[in-house]
Amino acid sequence: MPDVRIKTPNLDDIFEKWKNSAARKDRKKLEKQFGTKGAVFSLDAISAAEYVVDNMKEAAIYFSIKKTVGLSSNKDETVVMAPRLSKVQFYSFKGAGKIDKDNWNGNDSVPMFDSISPVPCKTCNGKGYTEKRCSCKGEGKITETWQVIEGEEQKKVKKTFQYSCPECYGSGNLQVQCKDCKGYKNLYKYQTLPVPFKTVVTGIPVLHSSAQTKYEKEIEKDLHQLIEEVEGIKFTEFKELESKAEASLGYYNKKISKTIGDAKSDYRMYEKDKDATIQSQIYLFPMIQLMCTTKKGSKFEIYSIGSDQKFMIYSNF
Ligand SMILES: [Zn+2]
Ligand SMILES: [Zn+2]
Repeated sequence: MPDVRIKTPNLDDIFEKWKNSAARKDRKKLEKQFGTKGAVFSLDAISAAEYVVDNMKEAAIYFSIKKTVGLSSNKDETVVMAPRLSKVQFYSFKGAGKIDKDNWNGNDSVPMFDSISPVPCKTCNGKGYTEKRCSCKGEGKITETWQVIEGEEQKKVKKTFQYSCPECYGSGNLQVQCKDCKGYKNLYKYQTLPVPFKTVVTGIPVLHSSAQTKYEKEIEKDLHQLIEEVEGIKFTEFKELESKAEASLGYYNKKISKTIGDAKSDYRMYEKDKDATIQSQIYLFPMIQLMCTTKKGSKFEIYSIGSDQKFMIYSNF
């Protein structure tokens, strides 16, 4: 197995690099914080040995992904009764062309007006009612038997009399409102579909660092543009990074272990995301954090990311 160990920059080199960049940026501030009254100010007088109070060894993991934005395939169908439709906020993009996602103010998927279509009620076959036999036993008429007194003898005889049933108007059947469509005959379905965004493919940098600096975003952006300017160890498989991280860095701690875990779940998420592809290899960078105090007593920090050969620095000085 080849040696995967990466050399971290030494503290003096980090401090030196910071000092030179700070001098370029604001020499007056440097002089104010490190100068001696009455003496000629010289950068040589500012040394790591004197002003670095403490240091911590951390690590960062970086990779970049390519994400296709606007190709969401979320598709959802909803079936409702007619009066519910007016409660839904519908959208229409007919003839509107592709939508610029940056200008879009709303959800990525929305109910589409043009997708509304009737679905005949299955229960009543789209009639709106079902039929049931009338309480007149389906005869459409009511038959009564009366006692009629007949003739001189006043004999009691039974005679029947019929009249039309008032419930079914003589038809024998009753129409009952369908319990599923409530008489509307149809239910309505509509689709919630992705807004037709213009497809944009973008590179997105992803950084996880155990130092949790406030420069994460800045470092992420810099790495995206300057990945060749910083030396790290490249891995093709996350598993490999996981197993070789400690040996590669030559140090390890709980925060680094947690950072690797976080980066791994992020990486897995992007692997599963069908709109994303992982574009770069996975980089493991040593990070050094220097806690410093100026001659005046102000505290500040310097971070380095990269190897002794190629590293970048960040500072809140
Ligand atoms: Zn009837
Ligand atoms: Zn029905």
